[in-house]
Parts: sequence; structure tokens; C-alpha cells
Amino acid sequence: RAGKNKYHLYKDMNTLSYFQNFVKLEKELKHGIKNKEFILYYQPIMEGKNKICGLEALIRWDHPKRGMISPGEFIPFAEEIGLMPEIGEWVLCEGLRQLKEWHLMGYHSLTLSINASKAQMMDNRFFDLIREMLVSKGISPSKLGIEITESDVCGYIENIMEFTNQLKEIGVKVSLDDFGTGLSSLKYLKEIQVDQIKFDRSFTNNIPINDFDSALLSGMFTLCERLDIEVVAEGVETEDQFLYLQKMNQKMQGYYFSKPVSAEQITKLLQTYEF
Ligand code: C2E
Ligand code: MG
Ligand code: MG
Ligand code: MG
Repeated sequence: RAGKNKYHLYKDMNTLSYFQNFVKLEKELKHGIKNKEFILYYQPIMEGKNKICGLEALIRWDHPKRGMISPGEFIPFAEEIGLMPEIGEWVLCEGLRQLKEWHLMGYHSLTLSINASKAQMMDNRFFDLIREMLVSKGISPSKLGIEITESDVCGYIENIMEFTNQLKEIGVKVSLDDFGTGLSSLKYLKEIQVDQIKFDRSFTNNIPINDFDSALLSGMFTLCERLDIEVVAEGVETEDQFLYLQKMNQKMQGYYFSKPVSAEQITKLLQTYEF
């Protein structure tokens, strides 16, 4: 209930059972990596109601006993125990493999956004892998976007700038995810020089009914335009939200268009939507 990108230690919990669960989950995660239990879903990023301009890769854990597990339930833990670099590597490889397939089907301008965790951004090998993968798959760097979460930036600005500067140098787009949920410091915008900002769905939720949020968003959109930063509004769920944002000419993502779905389902969507 406290939101995503958080974890809690329950101090009054029975210590033994806490450790048992911890060890069990760690074992299962490692097993899951070895057994290839992860899959990527994709959610379209829209330009207008009928045009897909890009996709965001969102990981799922297809657990043999517990079924589909959402990233919020295992990513913070995987990050904590140091497994995120390995999982993130797989996300990058699998995402780019699939993107190449779509490019070969004729959807040449399709872009892919990938979420990077803090541990990945701090690890130099991640950038090297991105560059190598793009070359080996023959994908233009401009077709890849790396999403960094606003709250991860806090306190690590230098390391993260090193990572994002390298990305920008080779032409990979840098996107600031969940904007508005962290400290939203304008200083970060100046230092990181992101190509795109994704406004968190907590803003989209209340438009156009809430005057404050609507004014805040439209003001931020104007600011972004002046700074030459592209905007994506996340979490568009209703017709009213869509109409309001369409008037502002912004890119959008949300259940109103499509939930995150499998690659096969995306291939079908690409055939029915404008592209
Ligand atoms: P995110 O990057 O902000 O992704 C958007 C999340 O909002 C996704 O949740 C998506 O399913 C959900 N969403 C999209 N449209 C709507 C909407 O209209 N309404 C509502 N209520 N929700 C919507 P999901 O897939 O559960 O992912 C949660 C978070 O887990 C992501 O947030 C991202 O931070 C993280 N994540 C997912 N995949 C990866 C990954 O491969 N690597 C890393 N490091 N993090 C990932
Ligand atoms: Mg994201
Ligand atoms: Mg994210
Ligand atoms: Mg987000």
C-alpha cells in the first residue's frame, strides 16, 4: 500500500521464518534465472489513439507453482540480494532480440524502452553490454530507450550521469521514469539532460477533474517543450484522460490503449493499429 519501489523489513516478525522465506526466495530466484522462468511483456506507447510509436518491456516471473508474479514483487528483493544485474542482462538481450524480429517484419521505426535498476546503472559492464548488443543485433541506438527511475537518481547523481552520458554519446535515449513521485528536482533535469520524461500515473489519475493536477501537468508539458524534452503520460485509463492529453499533443501509455501483453499479442496489435 505504500507504493512501489519500496520494501519493508517487519521487525516484529519471527526471525527464523523471515530468514527461511528470504533464503527460499533467493533460491527460487536463482533457480528461476537458470530455468528461464522470466518472460517479457510489452506495453505500447501511443501517439494519438491509433498509432503505436514504441513499446516498453516489462518483466514477469512465470513461477512454476505460484503463477505469474509481477515485477513489484521480486525486483526490489532481487536488487537487494544483487541479482538484478543478471536479470537485467537477460531483459536487455531478450528485448533486443524481439525488437529485431519486429524490425524485420517491417516495423522499422518501432522503439523499445527498457527499465534499468540502480545496480545496473552503477555497473559499467551494463553500458558495454548495451553497446555490444546493439552492434551484434544491428539495431540503431536511436531505437533503444533506457528508463531510469527518478528516486534512484537521488544521492547517486554522479554515477548515474556517467551512465547516461555514455548512453547519449552513442545515441541511446534516456528517459526519466515515474517523474513526480520522487524529489522531482529540476537540478536533475539540468544535469542528466534526459530525452524523455514519463509522468507518473498519480498525475494522470486526476485529470481533468482535479484543477491542480491538470494545471501542474500542462505547465510541466510547456516546460518540457521549451527544454526539448519529450513527454509520456503514464497510466491513461479513461476516455476523459485521453482526450485531455491528446489536446496537449503528448505521448501516452496506459490500460486505455492496452495492458502489457505478450510479444505475440503485440504482433497482432501492430497489424491492427497504425504504425
Ligand atoms: P514502470 O516502469 O513505471 O512501468 C509501468 C507500470 O505501470 C507497469 O507495471 C504497468 O503494467 C503499469 N501500468 C501501465 N499502464 C497502467 C494503467 O493505465 N493503470 C495502472 N494502474 N497501471 C498501469 P508492472 O509491469 O507491474 O511494473 C512495475 C514496475 O516494475 C515498473 O514500473 C518498473 O519500475 C519495474 N520493472 C518492470 N520490468 C522491469 C525490468 O525489466 N527491469 C527493472 N529494473 N524494472 C522493471
Ligand atoms: Mg518504466
Ligand atoms: Mg521504471
Ligand atoms: Mg513509470
